[in-house]
This record gives sequence, C-alpha cells and structure tokens, in this order.
Amino acid sequence: MKDFPTPQQIRRWFPGCWSEIAGNSEVVETWKNFIANGLCNALFTGPSRSGKKRAISLGIRALLCPNRTELLSPCGKCAACKATDEGRTVHAGVFTAITGSEYSFYPVDCETVTADELDSLQTEVELENETTIIYLDEVAALRRRRLEGRLLKVIDETEAIWIASAVSLKRKKGSRKGEWTERLSKEMKGRFAIKVGTSLPHPDDLCGWIAERARAWKIRIIDPKTTITMMVIRSRYRAGYVVNMFAEAATRDRRSIGPDDVLGFNLDTED
Ligand SMILES: [Zn+2]
Repeated sequence: MKDFPTPQQIRRWFPGCWSEIAGNSEVVETWKNFIANGLCNALFTGPSRSGKKRAISLGIRALLCPNRTELLSPCGKCAACKATDEGRTVHAGVFTAITGSEYSFYPVDCETVTADELDSLQTEVELENETTIIYLDEVAALRRRRLEGRLLKVIDETEAIWIASAVSLKRKKGSRKGEWTERLSKEMKGRFAIKVGTSLPHPDDLCGWIAERARAWKIRIIDPKTTITMMVIRSRYRAGYVVNMFAEAATRDRRSIGPDDVLGFNLDTED
C-alpha cells in the first residue's frame, strides 16, 4: 500500500510543473511573463475549485526557485522549492536567507490573519523592496472581517509586490443576478494593476488531464470513456472537484472510480 499516494496526499496535491495544470492558460501566461520580465501587483479571481490556488502556488514556487527548468517550472528540489511547498511557508521572515532566492515571500491567510499581524507587516517585512512578494490568500475576507482599511494605504504606497486571490461567486439576487462577483471593494480592486480570471479547461484537455492524474495516483478508472466524461460534467470542468473525486476513490479498497462513484460524489459548493 505504501507505493500509493494516500487520499490526503491526493487532496493536498499541488502541480509540480506547468504542464500539470488543467486550463487556466491566462494565469499560466501571467506567471511566465512575471518570471521573464518582472512583476507588478496582481489579483487572481475565479470560481471555487477552478485551480486558482494551485496555479498561483506554482507561479510563486517557479518565481522563487533559483534553479527553475528551461520551461520555467520550479526544480522541486532546492531549499526555496521545499520551503514554499504548497505555496505556503512557515519561514517567512528568513526566507531569502535560508533559500538563496532573490525574492522574499510572505503569505497571508486573510481568513485567519489578525489585526496585529497585519500591522506588524510594516515592521517585519521589507515593504520598500521590489523583491518582496506578499501573497494575500482570499483577500475578500479582509473586507468581511473589517480589516481591509489596515492594508489599503500600505499596498498603495510600498514598493513590495502584492499578489492576491479571490473567489468569484454568482450573484443570487438583484438586477445583476447571475453575474460573477468577488465581493471586493472598489478600493481594494484598484490596488492591483493586473487582474486575471481563472478559466476552466477545454473538455478534451480535462479528459487527458484526468487520465494522467489517474496514472500518477494509481487509481483505476472503470469504463474510462463513460467515467471520464461523467467526471468532466459532474465537476463542471473544475479540476479541484476531480482531485477530490480521486481522493475519495483512494479511500476505497478497490482504489477505483466508476460511473456510480461519480454520481454519488458530493459537491460542496453551489456555484
Ligand atoms: Zn527549486
């Protein structure tokens, strides 16, 4: 059993190179341009489970890795890659020193960060440095938690690079019902020169990606043609749901996924 990735390992999987990302060509392009030509503040938006976080995480790792591959993927082996595993790091303050990266990196989980922690960014982070990258994960949470005001001025006035992600939700009522929104203030949106929406993969690409993931994770697909088509439709083209379907398959003794399993899969969001 030890040769097989566990359900949790599958659930927590992050792509190691650009070819492992399904869809999201604009996000990939943005990061490749950043790596080649330098960065500026950027906001990445998209529906939940669309692969936003995984694509951003790969972008950050590729940017920070001093030994990236010819195709601009992170090497996966150096200290910077290890420290930014899953796009997060616990060594924020000493990142450059321990990794040899030209950048320093500070991830902020906007769902849990405290007011004090936000204020301490100003003393603990080199905000006047263009090689300082601050990642605001789920930035809309700052507004909801009434913390946004603490950052607006800082983002505006510092040299550091601010990268943010926000989930897009479908409006449920009012005259703009059905439109996508990020629940971000105009002011916060205005702080990001580049705004990139995550895009869902083409069904053909997603089918190929599903087959590839099944091989990598050693999950057998029963009646592949039918099952893969059903996975594409049921997941509504969102790779994140497919990953969860595979994680569920890995909990079963038979380590397989078939039409009935796909039908029984629980989607955890509505939009
Ligand atoms: Zn590396």
